Amino acid sequence: RAKLQGGNEWIFFSDEMNDETIKRLELESDLRRALKNNELYLLYQPIVEKGTRKLITCEALIRWQHPQRGIVPPLEFIPIAEETGLIHSIGKWVLKTACKQVVDWHNEGLTDVSISINVSAFQFQNRWFIEEVKNALAYSGLHPNYLHLELTETVMLNDSQKTIEVMKALTNIGVKISIDDFGTGYSSLSYLKNLPIHILKIDRSFIQNLDVNTPDFAIVKSIMTMGHGLGLQVTAEGIETTQQLEILEGMNCDFLQGYFIEKPLFPDQLKEWLNHQHSIMI
Ligand code: C2E
Ligand code: MG
Ligand code: MG
Ligand code: MG
Repeated sequence: RAKLQGGNEWIFFSDEMNDETIKRLELESDLRRALKNNELYLLYQPIVEKGTRKLITCEALIRWQHPQRGIVPPLEFIPIAEETGLIHSIGKWVLKTACKQVVDWHNEGLTDVSISINVSAFQFQNRWFIEEVKNALAYSGLHPNYLHLELTETVMLNDSQKTIEVMKALTNIGVKISIDDFGTGYSSLSYLKNLPIHILKIDRSFIQNLDVNTPDFAIVKSIMTMGHGLGLQVTAEGIETTQQLEILEGMNCDFLQGYFIEKPLFPDQLKEWLNHQHSIMI
């Protein structure tokens, strides 16, 4: 028998439970308190336009500062949030906080910057999702044209009437939709014809080892041709080297993101980065 770290409830651990299971139960219990205790925060990673390298949008990336464990990465706690249903309150918080942040930037003179927000398939499938997006826009005063939602192919797997309706309702008010981690899902490509999508975001795994005469080169080039042929714009994520950047610009990749450009930043750091970037571009 053991008491959960920092918790008020008792959980009974049996002998068969391994460390992973226990850690998971603890994280689950701690996550319930994380929002209320202000342990969640957002970093913002710049996404720039090819050629000009002008800032187009920032991707909001969630972090959890756990009181004992330090920073827990989203790939560890988002799945827990999804399984427990906590993703709904966390998702709403992300929408509101990120929209508010970009409005603050607009007020500080960074006009024209958009915000890209990751949306879990669970969150998207919630019947109140459209309302939640509208609430975040109303709360922050953000114009919908500045909001990009990043959905994964998991959402497209289910290209039911309902999915189409929700996506249309969002794009009709001016919200843009990106397909995140494009190329790694199990969905067919047919949804690209039927759904209102604006941007394909090529998964980092194709960019990581991108070089001329590699299979990844052929894949990335094909995605680019297909995306542009469908009238979509294409983003590459995870750019870490100048070679990768040059190859992608050579392929006419519209938007670029990755540590080579800049890592995810705190809001103040983003403004500093912009000032610095501006001074080197002039
Ligand atoms: P993602 O949406 O595909 O985000 C890109 C991930 O790649 C981020 O990891 C980012 O920090 C990382 N990254 C960006 N550039 C580079 C690079 O050049 N090299 C490498 N090695 N990595 C790079 P992060 O922040 O750990 O987020 C992981 C995933 O967690 C995200 O993948 C997204 O699926 C999910 N996530 C993050 N924030 C949220 C959120 O607010 N809500 C939801 N539902 N999911 C989120
Ligand atoms: Mg993303
Ligand atoms: Mg991605
Ligand atoms: Mg990814």
